Amino acid sequence: MSRSETLFQQAQKSIPGGVNSPVRAFNGVGGSPVFIERAKGAYMWDADGQRYIDYVGSWGPMILGHNHPAVLQATLAAAERGLSFGTPTEVEITMAEKIKQIVPSIEKVRMVNSGTEATMTAIRLARGYTGRDKILKFEGNYHGHADSLLVKAGSGALTLGVPNSPGIPEDIAKHTLTVDYNDIDSVAKVFAEFGQDIACIIVEPVAGNMNCIPPQPGFLEGLRKICDDFGSVLIFDEVMSGFRAAPGGAQERYQVIPDLTTLGKVIGGGMPVGAFGGKQAIMDHIAPVGPVYQAGTLSGNPVAMAAGLATLNELAKPGLYEQLYARVEQLLSGMQQLADQAGIPFTTNRAGSMFGFFFTREKHVTSYQQATQCNMEHFKRFYHEMLKQGVYLAPSAYEGGFMSAAHSEADIEQTLAAAKIAFVALAAA
Ligand code: PMP
Repeated sequence: MSRSETLFQQAQKSIPGGVNSPVRAFNGVGGSPVFIERAKGAYMWDADGQRYIDYVGSWGPMILGHNHPAVLQATLAAAERGLSFGTPTEVEITMAEKIKQIVPSIEKVRMVNSGTEATMTAIRLARGYTGRDKILKFEGNYHGHADSLLVKAGSGALTLGVPNSPGIPEDIAKHTLTVDYNDIDSVAKVFAEFGQDIACIIVEPVAGNMNCIPPQPGFLEGLRKICDDFGSVLIFDEVMSGFRAAPGGAQERYQVIPDLTTLGKVIGGGMPVGAFGGKQAIMDHIAPVGPVYQAGTLSGNPVAMAAGLATLNELAKPGLYEQLYARVEQLLSGMQQLADQAGIPFTTNRAGSMFGFFFTREKHVTSYQQATQCNMEHFKRFYHEMLKQGVYLAPSAYEGGFMSAAHSEADIEQTLAAAKIAFVALAAA
């Protein structure tokens, strides 16, 4: 038995399912998860000493690769000055100003500790601001695990087949309206009936929790117009797409400006951080300026701010995003070619440094329905063939992939060599 398998057995005795977040348990692909001991650049090493080229990047944050020297140094230096003060600090101002500069639709921003906190508060704020209870979200979009948002959710909830969780009172869930992603007509229909009661639309402007599905032309623009027509707040959940779909997130890539934005992952550089921000007129409803309450013992934590700021500073270096996009192109066009050669039905999606691949006969995957109808057996086999060869992909067909600035051309070539073997194995099965 491998050391990872031994550890997984031991973990299950004291931790539910052996993990502290569900998708890590490999329910989506079967088998035992690998326990990671350390990581550097594009690579992670497991408890048995095997090296992996990592395309998960801690589910998005590690856009510079693991343990980037500048991030590590800034983090250690901050830790030496103190781990937490529970007072305002100057680095929080620097962080807020930096975020405003990169994402200009954000006029004011509040730091929190996770994406879940960011989206939970953003919808509370939208409700408090509009005085309305209903919210609209999209089937297969995941916004963390707050009660109102864990309705027809993607990511781990979808992987486990429980997109609606028990434990959420019907009285809360009934205020969450869900419609189809990339289907503006379904949004218009719901607004025609309930528009005056809808506080906000919350959307992943690039869906990354039902695999990776970018917005169709006109979709985000349509959401903007409907929110304007009905006085509803448009929330872009850019916890995943922020700093990834483009430097300024999906709103920069697609040139549609939301009222509120939620951020996470990359802004923490690997430390637990989230943020929500947007129009000052809305943000001023948050305590202590306004009556909508939100707080956090560790919010704006100095060590986390240092790691996040160092990451954002590195991201500003010229050519970094061009390299990320070029690596995604190299990987996806290479995989498509290999799948075609092996006769495996396959297609890919991308938005900046986020990407997804699908085992399907469809040429373009643009909807939740298409994403859920892909060949799961192909995915699982492919996954384990790649893992065996030292390539770490997200262990679920409903998660996207993340490129980092540490991935070299040679890493991609090595990944493609593994993919060639995996596709051929699928064709032979
Ligand atoms: N929103 C989106 C779009 C996400 O992808 C995630 C997490 N994957 C969240 C919110 C929740 O973030 P966290 O896991 O940090 O609570």
